[in-house]
Amino acid sequence: MTECKDVTIIGGGPAGLYAAFYCGMRDLSARIIEFKPNLGGKVHIYPEKMIWDIGGLTPITGAQLIEQMEAQARTFNPKVILNEKVEKLEKNMEDCFVVTTNTGHKYVSRTVILATGGGILEPIKLDIEGADRFEVSNLHYTVQSLDRFKDKKVIVSGGGDTAIDWATELEPIAEQVSLVYRGEEFKAMEAHIAHLEASSVHIYKNTKIEKLLADEEGHHVKEILTKNQKTGEKVRFEVDDLIINHGFDRELKFIKESPLKVELEQDFFVKGSGKAETNIAGLYAAGDILSFDGKVHLIAGAYNDAANTVNQAKLYMKPDAYNEIYVSSHNSKFHEKNRKLLSHLYTK
Ligand SMILES: Cc1cc2nc3c(=O)[nH]c(=O)nc-3n(C[C@H](O)[C@H](O)[C@H](O)COP(=O)(O)OP(=O)(O)OC[C@H]3O[C@@H](n4cnc5c(N)ncnc54)[C@H](O)[C@@H]3O)c2cc1C
Repeated sequence: MTECKDVTIIGGGPAGLYAAFYCGMRDLSARIIEFKPNLGGKVHIYPEKMIWDIGGLTPITGAQLIEQMEAQARTFNPKVILNEKVEKLEKNMEDCFVVTTNTGHKYVSRTVILATGGGILEPIKLDIEGADRFEVSNLHYTVQSLDRFKDKKVIVSGGGDTAIDWATELEPIAEQVSLVYRGEEFKAMEAHIAHLEASSVHIYKNTKIEKLLADEEGHHVKEILTKNQKTGEKVRFEVDDLIINHGFDRELKFIKESPLKVELEQDFFVKGSGKAETNIAGLYAAGDILSFDGKVHLIAGAYNDAANTVNQAKLYMKPDAYNEIYVSSHNSKFHEKNRKLLSHLYTK
């Protein structure tokens, strides 16, 4: 059993990282438990995408944002535990939360913040036998580097926001981008669809990939064979790179199976309030996992939820604590740091 912290934060994406920073602001001891080997969460799916909608930041790539978020999260030295997957959430006799991970470690804390996004995200794999052998060459489930696709013939498969995002991002870089989608109507935001339709991306709806044809050495996908779901027509496409986005498997088992009986919404979200409270006292949720009326599904919204979770956690442990949101000048820990940062202004 480990030291009892004030807060255990499950998930090291934007919500978890900002919660860790804010714990320091409110003098709470915190640990983050993250399943992946690195912090940053879903932003790792789009490290080279330019992000324009983080409040107060001019365009920044996903990779740069991760770097900034991690540096901020570490300001007050939270304990960071990587490569551990939370599998159990319960309470002990002292009414403290106990979080157990796949390594068997048990982490105790007075409160818990669920910042698990959509859960452990595993891309839904292409359902074609033997497709996995191309994952080391030219079959991709994420876009790690746009440069990789320069002047290539790229086929993107999928009909959601992410697939459309990748197709339109790659259009000015690749020689040619085609988007194949088995459905009739894209499942994406109107603005995304309009952007796609105004681009030179070749769109093939009702079209499913049936077969991957390899080059002579058998190392790369050279062509794909598709079938139109309506007409039955089969077409072969030449391809340099194939990007699959058929969504993600979400794993929220530990929340669903918790004896605490956490209230969910639509099976994938934790039902909460605008203050990021759940139905369990001392248990809060922030970011993509949280659902409430008025929820903002942006990184900016995740930060807002995170600040709320920490303030609620503080009040839960110390009901007479300051009941308003803190700004950074309220925390004396910054005074010394500010003196260093602004040393050129200080005369003594
Ligand atoms: C392609 C794409 C483009 C996007 N573009 C933008 C954009 O331009 N602007 C914007 O604002 N938003 C954008 N988003 C959305 C944004 O990335 C999410 O809203 C944000 O990442 C949510 O943060 P989060 O911390 O709630 O969850 P996540 O980022 O999903 O992080 C959750 C973390 O929890 C970990 N975790 C889950 N379960 C467990 C467990 N059991 N044990 C341990 N760890 C666990 C996961 O590994 C993950 O690291 C985009 C999303 C995608 C997919």
